[in-house]
Amino acid sequence: MEHLLELQNIVVRFALRFGDLTAVDDVSFTLDRGDRMGLVGESGAGKSVTGFSIIGLISRPGYIASGRILFEGTDLAHLNEEALRNIRGNRISMIFQDPMMTLNPVLTIGTQMTETLQAHMDITDEEAAAMAVDRLRMVHIPSPEKRLNQYPHEFSGGMRQRIVIAIALLMDPALIIADEPTTALDVTIQAEILDLLLELCATGKTGLILITHDLAVVSQVTDKITVMYAGRIVEMGSTDTIIHDPRHPYTQGLINALPGSRHTGSRLNQIPGMMPNLLTIPPGCSFHPRCPFMMDICTKQAPRLKYYKEHERQISCFLMENQNKGSI
Ligand code: SF4
Repeated sequence: MEHLLELQNIVVRFALRFGDLTAVDDVSFTLDRGDRMGLVGESGAGKSVTGFSIIGLISRPGYIASGRILFEGTDLAHLNEEALRNIRGNRISMIFQDPMMTLNPVLTIGTQMTETLQAHMDITDEEAAAMAVDRLRMVHIPSPEKRLNQYPHEFSGGMRQRIVIAIALLMDPALIIADEPTTALDVTIQAEILDLLLELCATGKTGLILITHDLAVVSQVTDKITVMYAGRIVEMGSTDTIIHDPRHPYTQGLINALPGSRHTGSRLNQIPGMMPNLLTIPPGCSFHPRCPFMMDICTKQAPRLKYYKEHERQISCFLMENQNKGSI
């Protein structure tokens, strides 16, 4: 069966004066309609670059060096800009952390929504306004008819993010990519926005990729998790298995750092050290300088991502290989 989205061995590089740097290295995953996947990792893990690569938003000097991005059967990695623009905001929508990246401060919400609709559809002003009201209602904006005439600054941060989600929904997209959509919001509003995303995906028609550094957020919304470190996938499986039984030392570190983790004492256990930048990615397993289980081989060879049937997920770590239970 054709997947809604299938990334096949995607490599994203940045061409710099002294050579090319790899930001996303051999990333593959699939997403079906109704799937909600969390793309997780600290800043610099490559998760946002992966998300941007799907919708052709990698700006120069970045480029997709190899791999395929099959979306509804079309390879987005090799589409021209015009065709990509048509898919963006039509079949695939993106929600950013800062609503003001999407909203134009000098236009009313109604103008922004109807212009977006009329750029993609041959409809009258009245029809566009009716569709805009419908989407505002879907994201629970009170009195949506009146709100159409207001400007972004007249809304609170949480309401602005709801409007961004309403705009993302305008064309009934098959895929929504949300990049840290709740990071700038306080905890109560954060929960409301996450509930809203969950509600919107409940129809089973839309796939969601939720990009975040926050495993707590992912555990509330997604049904599968892809954990990235230094541009590579290190663990990928169902949210339930990964949250309750993380196997990769990096995932374990992320979960130990969560407030209220059963592994923590009174203080949060932050992972020691920092995510390497693209210039300083260590040889072998890129996590080895921070890994409490580092072995000799980890400094010399990079582990491969393999499927472990008994753990129902893919993991990239020599510890798993040493247990001799792996099968590709
Ligand atoms: Fe740690 Fe080695 Fe596994 Fe990397 S491969 S996570 S360094 S044990």
